[in-house]
Amino acid sequence: MARIAVVGSINMDLVTTVGRRPEPGETVSGEGFALVPGGKGSNQAIAAQRAGGDVEFVGAVGDDVFAAALREVLSKAGVGVSRLRAVDGPSGIAAIVVDGGGENSIIVVAGANGRMTELTVADRETIAAADVLMCQLEIPVATVLAAARHARANGTVVMLNPSPVRELPAEVWAEIDVAVVNEGEGEQLAAALSGVPHVITTLGAAGASYRGPRGEMLSQPGIPVRVVDTTGAGDTFTGALAAHWHRGPRTALAWACTAGALATTKLGASASIPELAEIRRALAEAGAR
Ligand code: ADP
Repeated sequence: MARIAVVGSINMDLVTTVGRRPEPGETVSGEGFALVPGGKGSNQAIAAQRAGGDVEFVGAVGDDVFAAALREVLSKAGVGVSRLRAVDGPSGIAAIVVDGGGENSIIVVAGANGRMTELTVADRETIAAADVLMCQLEIPVATVLAAARHARANGTVVMLNPSPVRELPAEVWAEIDVAVVNEGEGEQLAAALSGVPHVITTLGAAGASYRGPRGEMLSQPGIPVRVVDTTGAGDTFTGALAAHWHRGPRTALAWACTAGALATTKLGASASIPELAEIRRALAEAGAR
């Protein structure tokens, strides 16, 4: 079983649905509301745990009413939360408006995620003891860099999902062993990615491709599924990839694509992350075809 340290974000999404979004200064009646736990770090941690990994989450919640619920989402999934701290102020939140046309408007407040500025001695021990470090870009880049450097120095594979996409200093890219990007991110970051030993590009319904350190290529076709909601598919893919990376890129890609495809068959981000048994069953069915 792969030991995985996720150094990343955890949020509460506040999702409102409304026929027509309000103009500035206007109040309108909404139709629905839901609290949906998320954050790329948290989603990927849960996905890696469910795909068979042994995951420890290094991150922060605030001192508000969301903190306990966020902690519980991780612990219920079996993710280790001993490195999840509580800081003063709000937890990370995303205020989301979904209008009648299905269009989203999102305000992200980093909150506690933005305060992940230090790694403690215990955090560093967790990173050093892991097989894989997994990071995204919803916490300060300086913390990602510190985690990656510490991982590298201790023989832990450094996996980065550079999302939300942005340019990163060369010193960050120099520490990355494995990058996981979607097609848009891959295009935008092409120059930097050319120096990363292992690059996995997700291709939506078409699956994913892999480019290795000597330019070797692999492609994993998409798994045909009845798509309900693609939210969280990328995070599920990345988590499953981390959990199976030690088995080589071909096997890891098959697990990741299968988990990612299954995530599209249910509504929501974290709620749609498949369990180990579901992934195994789908892999067995694919093998039989
Ligand atoms: P993102 O959502 O981050 O842009 P993708 O759309 O590439 O990423 O999806 C990530 C992964 O989820 C894909 O590599 C694939 O495994 C799975 N996936 C996404 N959409 C579909 C789909 N329509 N059918 C099957 N699998 C899908």
